[in-house]
Amino acid sequence: MAERQYPLGRTRNIGIIAHIDAGKTTTSERILYYTGVSHKMGEVHDGSTVMDWMEQERERGITITSAATTCFWRDHRINIIDTPGHVDFTAEVERSLRVLDGAIGIFCAVGGVEPQSETVWRQAAKYHVPRIAFVNKLDRVGADFFRCVDQMRERLDAKPVLLQLPLGQEETFEGVIDLVRMEALRWDDETLGATYHTEPIPKEALAEAEQWRERLLEQVVDFEEALMEQYLETGTLSAEAIEGAVRQATLELKAHPVVCGAAFKNKGIQPLLDAVVHYLPSPLDVPPIKGLNPRTGQEESRLADDEAPFSGLVFKVMTDPYVGQLSYIRVYSGKLDVGQTVYNPIRERRERIGRLLRMHANKREEVGAVRAGDIAAAIGLKQTTTGETLCDEKHLIVLETMEFPEPVVQLAIEPKTKADYDRLGVSLAKLASEDPTFVSRVDEESSQIIIAGMGELHLEILVERLLREFNVEANVSRPQVAYRETVSASASAEGRYVRQTGGRGQYGHVVMELEPLGRGEGFVFEDATAGGVIPREYISAVEKGVREAMEAGVFAGFPVTDVRARVVDGSSHAVDSSELAFKIAGSMAFKEAMRRGGVILMEPVMDVEVVVPEEFLGEVLGDLNARRGQIVGTDTRAGARVVEAKVPLAEMFGYATVLRSVTQGRATHTMQFASYEEIPAPIAEAVANRTWVGVDRKRTVA
Ligand code: GDP
Repeated sequence: MAERQYPLGRTRNIGIIAHIDAGKTTTSERILYYTGVSHKMGEVHDGSTVMDWMEQERERGITITSAATTCFWRDHRINIIDTPGHVDFTAEVERSLRVLDGAIGIFCAVGGVEPQSETVWRQAAKYHVPRIAFVNKLDRVGADFFRCVDQMRERLDAKPVLLQLPLGQEETFEGVIDLVRMEALRWDDETLGATYHTEPIPKEALAEAEQWRERLLEQVVDFEEALMEQYLETGTLSAEAIEGAVRQATLELKAHPVVCGAAFKNKGIQPLLDAVVHYLPSPLDVPPIKGLNPRTGQEESRLADDEAPFSGLVFKVMTDPYVGQLSYIRVYSGKLDVGQTVYNPIRERRERIGRLLRMHANKREEVGAVRAGDIAAAIGLKQTTTGETLCDEKHLIVLETMEFPEPVVQLAIEPKTKADYDRLGVSLAKLASEDPTFVSRVDEESSQIIIAGMGELHLEILVERLLREFNVEANVSRPQVAYRETVSASASAEGRYVRQTGGRGQYGHVVMELEPLGRGEGFVFEDATAGGVIPREYISAVEKGVREAMEAGVFAGFPVTDVRARVVDGSSHAVDSSELAFKIAGSMAFKEAMRRGGVILMEPVMDVEVVVPEEFLGEVLGDLNARRGQIVGTDTRAGARVVEAKVPLAEMFGYATVLRSVTQGRATHTMQFASYEEIPAPIAEAVANRTWVGVDRKRTVA
């Protein structure tokens, strides 16, 4: 076996998490540039960024995919896993947090800690991801390094450990002061910041630097008591001792090292990379991955070791215009070779690894194998979708499955021609394999295609891709709330589909009981018939019929959920029974039982958080009340009021605009799906009577 070029200890799998506009794209690009992978430095404003390679991402200037890019720094391999910043992509963020070992949080020195960075930071905490912080944009007017650090402490519960101070600020920002080695760093403009030099800390900045150095040393001896003696005796600590103690505290989530700079001005990037190497974990520093053996239900774990049985997680599937479908895999244990056959324990299928690619910023590199702790993209997987495990067939393991939130917003697409219709079908299937938070179905009555996703922006991006990438012409409705139907009480009904007038007839007969399930429990199908009154092969036809009826809904055309359907009786005919007849009978029984039990219409309700200055609190509360909102609580955070409320999604469309005008742009809000809840009767009536697949404000996109 060839010597491994980068041992596990010198691998870093990291993500960059940030609020939109904090400078994630700019920082990522500078990282790729300085690590020598990127040939030219693209700027966000001229659209030639390296990471944002999907056309529309460039236009929007936001990063929505989570691919992995490899670069090298000081003899370490760094895999950067892209994490989207917008809350509509919560599932993508969670998915990327699962496979990375550490993260950089980027904060804007002017805007400070925004609600969205708060969401992602908390998600990272939930997955026990060690983090370092980069305070960016120190060159901008209004930049305030210390305010930003205070906000991290107050709003994020972070434990900042300042390793640097800015040298100057706003228009006088010149470089950084390194508190570990007590020196100043300045970047050379001629090389676009590729080179920098160290010099003594300028006199006027020395007093403040010494004061913060003192704080740093106190924190360090607090982390590692063994250093106390050295500190008391000499009054100082070596750089190595500081780095070692801060590393350990960071890995234990007791510290968040803070460095700073201005990515756009090419300042601060190399020390940030040094911090990644110094303080963020290698795959060896994180606990062994856990999972379940699907046969025995026993917990299993895998060490990050090349010799262990292979296990890996497919965390992103995407279509690449040149090589086809790419499946990004994080290998947790063992080794994955080109040509090897691995096993997908969820689908119970074998998969062959056709090729393996490592993705750099501007090129793809074919590799023969990937080992424990590493990340690469595989070509040739046919059955495996995002979030599924691959493993050694003799050593089964299903890594912790990810939960995907409910799609709560939907819209209708009406392809213009038959050819468009066909193309749309193919592209929808492709998109669904890339993105498990997106679903599509055909509305029986209108033959329109309904797609549902996590939010307005999510759907808008999907539609753009469908129409553009796959060249489909269609009319598109505006996004609307994805309602659901369920049954209010248990009921049973009979479905009979019998046609026996001459020749071969049809005979299907089913008796079914329906029962409401708890919110979010989905659908359960049971066969409780005895004595083979319905032959086995027709039971699955009955289930199919029920599922189809559920998709189309019974009351107002919305999908049915949270029900248990139990087939309790029925009969069959030796000649006339068929799958079709039982499918129809199943669907009839289901619809009738729904009607008898009483149909409830449900709507998605969101957890909404609004951060607003005190003076506008009254307006915001009043407005939320008018939106059928339920105020859960109010709090004070860093001088602003924080309102938490539960509000039906239907009332939240266009909220950002209203909030802006009511508060003169001084409030921010975030929202996340909470649950499906019953709609009050008068509103349910209105929803049911609306031809919701709106033709109003229809957009035509060529
Ligand atoms: P993202 O949304 O987090 O990816 O942020 P971008 O990297 O796209 O940056 C948002 C905007 O801030 C762009 O116009 C950048 O040019 C600008 N920007 C990024 N970093 C800095 C910085 O250090 N200083 C200044 N003045 N502007 C910056």
